[in-house]
Order: sequence, then C-alpha cells, then structure tokens
Amino acid sequence: LFVVFEGGDGVGKSTQTKLLAEWATGQGLDVRVTFEPGDTAAGQLIRRIVLDPATGELDPRAEALLYAADKAHHLYEVVRPALARGELVICDRYVDSMLAYQGAGRVLDLDEVAGIARWATDGLVPDLTVLLDLEPEHAVGAIAEPDRLEQAGADFHQRARRFFLDLAASDPSRYLVLPARDPIERIAEQVRHRVQQELS
Ligand code: C5P
Repeated sequence: LFVVFEGGDGVGKSTQTKLLAEWATGQGLDVRVTFEPGDTAAGQLIRRIVLDPATGELDPRAEALLYAADKAHHLYEVVRPALARGELVICDRYVDSMLAYQGAGRVLDLDEVAGIARWATDGLVPDLTVLLDLEPEHAVGAIAEPDRLEQAGADFHQRARRFFLDLAASDPSRYLVLPARDPIERIAEQVRHRVQQELS
C-alpha cells in the first residue's frame, strides 16, 4: 500500500508520517517511511541543488526537471522495491507537491508539468493521499507580517493550497483531506482509520 502525505510547508506532514509509521509498525506491518525530495544518495544531491540558496536563481523548467529526476530515482531505488516486498510505503510529499509548486505555484504549464511527473513516475499513483490543509499564514514558521517580497511568497503558497484542495476534490476516493489545525492525535486517528480501511 502506497500512502502519501501532501500539503504546504509547516502543516505537520512529517509528524503525521511518523505517527502513522509507529502505529503501523505496532500492528506488525512492514513499513517504509520515506520523503521527497532527497531520500536517496542522488536525491540528497538534487535536494541540495533545488534548496540551497547558493544555487541562486534556477530556471523553472530546470527546477521541475530536478524534482522529476529525484522522483524517478526515488521510485526506482526506494518506493517500487518496498511495494514489491509488500511493505506499507508512507511518503512525505509526492507528485501533487510537484504539481502544486512547480505547476500551479510557478509559471509553468500545469499539463506539461503533469506530463513530466507522469513520465518520471511511470504513472505510479498512491493508493491514498492524505492532504493536510492549512491557511499558509498559520503554517509553522510562517511570517506574521510579510514584507513586499514575502507577500509574493504568500500568493505562491495560497495558489499551492488552492491547487491541493482542487486536486483532492477531483478524486475524492483517493484523498483524505484533514484540517491541519486539528489536534495532532485527532488527525492521526482519522488517518489510521482510513489506512485500516485501505488495508482490509
Ligand atoms: O517537505 P520538505 O520540507 O522536505 O520540502 C522542502 C522544500 O521544498 C519546501 O520548502 C517545499 O516547499 C519545497 N518543494 C518544492 N517543490 C516540490 C517539493 C518541495 O518547492 N515538488
């Protein structure tokens, strides 16, 4: 089973990933926790290129291709082998992040980015995507009073949030959308419940 957590920055994806993994391990399942970008040796290098300020400005197409490369290699090295062994794979971010950030958030054509993502992943779709939804201004680490430059960043995160929600609405059977401001344990409980359904 392939379960993905999606959502903006600072919504608690890594916390929920960890809680689900702990529970599933306790249930006797073989679990592989992973994340994008960067959970392979090559991916770590790619993550550095896309996130290190030293990179400077990056052409949006180049950035999208780097994320796509991380994804392709991550599936090859981590996700597909784990799924083939019958493990529960829990991944922090996947294709939707690429669509939301490199597509909806930036200037690239969404269909083209989706095509690249599909090619990079050879069409592997999660069984379940948990979307943790939060107004960007409430995200952990959000800036209380953004200046002009950061305000542009706020628009970016608003577009990404809207896009995540639209994606989820377009395929309700594959998404569980939860308000990220709910108590951590309440979110975890709802995720466990849904994963249990998927497993049975
Ligand atoms: O989730 P994590 O904190 O590892 O993500 C690192 C950064 O990469 C975040 O700021 C996120 O917004 C960004 N990112 C992105 N495009 C993606 C995936 C992550 O811009 N496809």
